[in-house]
Amino acid sequence: MQNDFNFCPHCGGRNVRNIDMRHWQCDDCGFVLYHNVAASVAVIIADESGAILFEVRAKQPKQGMLCLPGGFVEPGESLEQACVRECYEEIGVKPVGLQYMASFPNTYEYKGVLYKTCDAFFVANMPDNAEFHLQQGEVSQIQKCCINNLQDLEKLPLAFDSARCALKCFVSEFYK
Ligand SMILES: [Zn+2]
Repeated sequence: MQNDFNFCPHCGGRNVRNIDMRHWQCDDCGFVLYHNVAASVAVIIADESGAILFEVRAKQPKQGMLCLPGGFVEPGESLEQACVRECYEEIGVKPVGLQYMASFPNTYEYKGVLYKTCDAFFVANMPDNAEFHLQQGEVSQIQKCCINNLQDLEKLPLAFDSARCALKCFVSEFYK
């Protein structure tokens, strides 16, 4: 699947050309569109026992599969602000002690449009006595999983490959 346009979004003409994966140009009016890589964030939160917090996705894409709290960075926001906002929106808790870990590219398909993202992964903690409030329609439940080795990681039904790469990083860093 590749994103494409049949009509120029500016003049409605049919001479809109796909220059490369993220760049279109209209030969009639000169309109140029860049569909750039989107910044997104995700947070790895492990409890004292080492169990990592996952959300079970309530909606497409990847409904029923596991993902880390996170999402797209909004205009005007830093990566750290996006982490805190997304966690608060999705699970009702603001993480503390955010530390950047690594980033990995990802592809996110939503309603027939492909979004190429660059996912930045942070490690954080839950505040004491955190009470979860799950975002309706986004998160159906929270699941905590222990990942003791790479075999455990392979078995997890993760929604996104970038999270698998990040967790591989996390596991090799913290459990070696
Ligand atoms: Zn045009």
